[in-house]
Amino acid sequence: MPILQLHPEDRVQLKKPHPCGGKIFRIVRVGSEVRVICETCGRDMTLDRIKLEKAIKQILTNTTNPPEKGEI
Ligand SMILES: [Zn+2]
Repeated sequence: MPILQLHPEDRVQLKKPHPCGGKIFRIVRVGSEVRVICETCGRDMTLDRIKLEKAIKQILTNTTNPPEKGEI
């Protein structure tokens, strides 16, 4: 299993869709918990990093927006 490298501004596709039906989430904060925003409805949620890593289906690298310095 590769180690997941999560960074603020990364976008991820989760196995479980959000209640709104969206599967793409944008990471806004990484720590022992990770805060993500649903790209479809704009709601945010906080997940344990371990749970999020298990829930991630795919990391969508975002080359158009270089990541800014994350505040942790
Ligand atoms: Zn949503």
